[in-house]
Amino acid sequence: MKIDEVLSLLERAELKDLDPKSGRLFAYVYETGDENIRKVAEKALLRFAEKNLLDFTVFRSAVFFEKEVVGFAKNLMHGADAAGTFTFGGTESIMLAVKAARDFYRKREGKAEVPEILAPISIHPAFLKAADYLGLKVVRLAVKDAKADTDEFAEAVSDKTALIALSAPNWPFGTVDPVEEIAEIAAEKNVLIHVDACLGGFILPFFEMLGENVPKYDFRVEGVTSISLDVHKYGYAPKGASVVLFRDAELKKCSMFVDVTSPGYVFVNQAVLSSRPEGPLAAAFAVIKYLGIEGYKKLASKVLSARKKIYKGLKALGFESVGRVESSVLAMSNPEVDLIGFVNNMKRLGWQLHLQKGLKKYGIPDNIHLTLSPIHDEMAEEFLEDAAKAVEMKPDVDTKQIYAMVERGEFAEIVKGIEEGRLDSSIVTILLESIPEDFAAELIKNVVMEWFR
Ligand SMILES: *Cc1c(COP(=O)(O)O)cnc(C)c1O
Repeated sequence: MKIDEVLSLLERAELKDLDPKSGRLFAYVYETGDENIRKVAEKALLRFAEKNLLDFTVFRSAVFFEKEVVGFAKNLMHGADAAGTFTFGGTESIMLAVKAARDFYRKREGKAEVPEILAPISIHPAFLKAADYLGLKVVRLAVKDAKADTDEFAEAVSDKTALIALSAPNWPFGTVDPVEEIAEIAAEKNVLIHVDACLGGFILPFFEMLGENVPKYDFRVEGVTSISLDVHKYGYAPKGASVVLFRDAELKKCSMFVDVTSPGYVFVNQAVLSSRPEGPLAAAFAVIKYLGIEGYKKLASKVLSARKKIYKGLKALGFESVGRVESSVLAMSNPEVDLIGFVNNMKRLGWQLHLQKGLKKYGIPDNIHLTLSPIHDEMAEEFLEDAAKAVEMKPDVDTKQIYAMVERGEFAEIVKGIEEGRLDSSIVTILLESIPEDFAAELIKNVVMEWFR
């Protein structure tokens, strides 16, 4: 093909995508509206795309970038003596933290038993995935007021506990777990604590600098032994950028993998993946340098302003927050509104919201999720006008009919609706509630196979 023909294929491939720059998405992307951020990021991304993070002795720029990016993260988390690793995403950071905890536990306890991770039900699924890959068991505990319940941890912690995992904040509700309280319990048993600040690590420190009341969760809390924070979220770097920090070098060493027995090269991996493009690391560095503390503070104040407007506006429409509002996430419920219909109406009006199933056992109703970005500050008014319309509009999906379809096992119709853009895919979280877990997981795998066939 000619270059032009290839370029037109790229253009065609994009036709059905949502526009990440539009300010109409409330997940997946963290849009600032600042074109300069995109400019420095793109330059760095391309310039270092062909260099490989596999061998830091060959590409020395990688060592420089990684020390700088990790250093910035250490400052934010008050971990002057911490040791960190750059990874390609939050899931990878969490995978490394779980491996470190497992190997540390084995070294100390020398037991063959399956070690446990204690975590609230609101923990990110990346911990379940890491445990699945690494042979650990996750014990999920009840939440109180949409946060980890300290009493539950006090009761559950045991000799089998390799790690306590908490969030700052958690994805579904945006609440910060009581890290200080739980750390006191963990201290008695000498248990490691990971704080998942993938979402909050690059914004809560700036909220604090702006005078917001942020619960303590970082290395200033004595018992916290590792933290994950994503540069590709509120660090505003292109995707493929996260950091995991360990309180000391000993723990970081447990996260590494080294092989000296194979012919070929000495295999030294600080992260899960081996060959990786240097581009995302260089881009993360470039964005951090461009913004600096002051740049991040300004963007954080826009997020606070967006939160204030949208929270107030949704409250006026009868929505209530499911937990304390203390991060850049809003999770709002409304018993008067058919949320499946609402989310689909908003989709028709061009907005991408997320429906979340509640935890009825713990008093949390179904709700909508909004991860707020700086650009939402200027979008708030238009968003709220449309939200008011969407509450009144007759939904073009019949919720009762959808539930009936689920009961009859007519999933193909629902999948078709999602594929054609009539139904928002997040309604699946609620629909699948009425199906046994194992069956639901198998069903989803089959849908994925079909989707990519
Ligand atoms: C985004 C996120 C993660 C990890 O997600 P990736 O998609 O792998 O970057 C983990 N925990 C929380 C709370 C998150 O928001």
